Amino acid sequence: MVIEYNGTILRNEVAIQKEKIYRSQNRPVFMFRIDSQHVVDATRTGGLARYINHSCAPNCVAEVVTFERGYKIIISCVRRIDKGEELCFDYQFDTVEGQQKIACHCGAPECRKWIN
Ligand SMILES: [Zn+2]
Repeated sequence: MVIEYNGTILRNEVAIQKEKIYRSQNRPVFMFRIDSQHVVDATRTGGLARYINHSCAPNCVAEVVTFERGYKIIISCVRRIDKGEELCFDYQFDTVEGQQKIACHCGAPECRKWIN
């Protein structure tokens, strides 16, 4: 385990409203989708894990662990990480038809070109 992705667990409908508010305030949005109904909002209450970038060839993986009273998102390494190496994981964004594509700049030889 490297770090926990902390934040506030929101229902999907609330997360959509919060994202609109953050964007209207030109605030960077940090959210992690747990499932179709729940999102962790790390925009205002999150820890350092929210700054971990996407990569198509990541050195970490994000896992959602379910507890009786909720969820935890655990970032774990999938290989040895060298000192000073940037942490990254695959965001695994769904492709939504009509949604603007987000270009990937991870630089990996196997880069898929798009994050979503
Ligand atoms: Zn990439």
